[in-house]
Amino acid sequence: MERIVVKSPADGSVVGEVAVMPPEAIEGMIARAHAAYLHWREVPLHQRVEPLRRLKRLILQERRAIAELVAREQGKPRIEAMIVELFPPLDVSAFLMYDGVRLLQPRRVRSKNPFFSDRRSTYYFHPYGVWAVIAPWNYPFTIPMTQLMALTLAGNAALLKPSPLTPLTGAKVVELFERAGFPEGLVQVVQGGAPQGSALLASPTVRGVIFTGSVPIGRTVAEQAAKTNKKVILELGGKDPALVLADADIQHAAQGIAWASMVNAGQTCASVERVYVEQHAYEPFLEALRAELAKIRLGHPLHEETDMGPVVARFQLERVQRHIEDACARGGRVLLGGRGRADLGELYHEPTLIADASDEMLGMQEETFGPLVMVQPVASAEEAVRKANASAFGLTASIWTRDPHKAQRLAPLLECGSVSVNSHIVAYGDSYGVWGGVKDSGVGRTHGEFGLYELVQPQYVSEVYTGKPELWWYPYSARVHRITDWLMAFLASPSLKMGGATARRMLPELRYLTRHFSPLKMTGGLLRYLR
Ligand code: NAD
Repeated sequence: MERIVVKSPADGSVVGEVAVMPPEAIEGMIARAHAAYLHWREVPLHQRVEPLRRLKRLILQERRAIAELVAREQGKPRIEAMIVELFPPLDVSAFLMYDGVRLLQPRRVRSKNPFFSDRRSTYYFHPYGVWAVIAPWNYPFTIPMTQLMALTLAGNAALLKPSPLTPLTGAKVVELFERAGFPEGLVQVVQGGAPQGSALLASPTVRGVIFTGSVPIGRTVAEQAAKTNKKVILELGGKDPALVLADADIQHAAQGIAWASMVNAGQTCASVERVYVEQHAYEPFLEALRAELAKIRLGHPLHEETDMGPVVARFQLERVQRHIEDACARGGRVLLGGRGRADLGELYHEPTLIADASDEMLGMQEETFGPLVMVQPVASAEEAVRKANASAFGLTASIWTRDPHKAQRLAPLLECGSVSVNSHIVAYGDSYGVWGGVKDSGVGRTHGEFGLYELVQPQYVSEVYTGKPELWWYPYSARVHRITDWLMAFLASPSLKMGGATARRMLPELRYLTRHFSPLKMTGGLLRYLR
């Protein structure tokens, strides 16, 4: 059987290995997941919370082991793993236990449609069934863990396919679900790469997919999923802009952007890769950012005082180098870094700051996904917004200013899924935020109310027991025609005169209407159409 041997990107030591799942074995796993789903969807919501509560406790108990595994397998510092990989699942589980349960309860529909005034209508939120969760390597714990928590609370089953670069963390995620007491087979792990992902997508039993990864693979996932009409959520790449306005607290902005551009060695979908600075603040900001980036301590991910570890693999280094060379060839100024740190290990790279970036540089257009941040001066806040939007991506953005009015005016103009003011990537940490992007950055949302409703199929049930025939049922008649036409004419040009005169003429007809609807509710509903 084929195996994946995981080596630490920091020092090449073997972290562990897993067996790759032969694609032909995957249909059997899907069948088990489906059987588990048929039972699980009948479990009342308040009972589905119990294993979720135990899962949360397990994460807390095993925090050190999880953080260490992520640090060794993926390369982010252990302390960073504890913060960015473990806090979001804790927050999401709390959100789901309190608000998720409430949001998924059947809910009365307060319809004002005059023709449905005698009805009682309800929304029910039904699970889809079995999902594929196809995950990336850069946040191998928090991304699948939070997605699986929400999927299962909503009554679904799921097969997680982790990245072949971080299979051990993927296996750990699923192990925790099993130990928390979720039904056997409800959450399983499928180890492997593209063939295993494709096998999941080919199955008609898999009804939905949450894919988190790169734009090109996201497109092929959507194409594959379309063949069996699956629900598709795509969380894709980013090229996040930070807009530093002339009135910003420069030191605070530099400190925040230094972190947001270099967290996880820049391998964050929402890391700051482009900074647009109003001219007046440009030089002071560059100096402050250079000073903050210079403080970053590269080192082994398991050392306590490491701020930044290695990148995950050689292909990441090559892209960073290509973007730096391209920027230099087009007049960019390297203010800090620019080189690999082979003395620390093959996959280490200095935090790199490039000033005087121009729009055509690769590093201002393509996702770099590494320890590189590029800065460009702009004449005004409006120009910063225009440039921020002139991108194929639209995941998140940040505005740095002391002026709330300016921030509130500019934020909705930014084409992206979330905006942080005087910070960055806040939406992922707050489970009440919405996570997801626009344009090439993705389709659909995860997290919060809007993310939860993506995982269920709302069903509308409408009940009536008056025994009255609906107005539009057969037989069609001249009378129904007259009534309908009069109603439309009145709505088209409502006037008291017309209302009075015709109401007299239409009185018998209106009486006829009461055979179908209660007059008071109907009149109230109709008045709405006059707006
Ligand atoms: P990737 O697209 O290379 O791989 C993602 C997953 O897809 C992996 O599990 C991979 O094995 C699988 N896969 C590959 N080919 C497939 C196929 N043909 N069919 C089905 N599955 C297939 O991405 P990556 O390198 O693991 O992750 C980095 C990318 O993810 C970056 O672009 C980053 O911005 C993005 N990302 C986005 C978010 C977000 O929330 N928007 C979060 C994290 C990462």
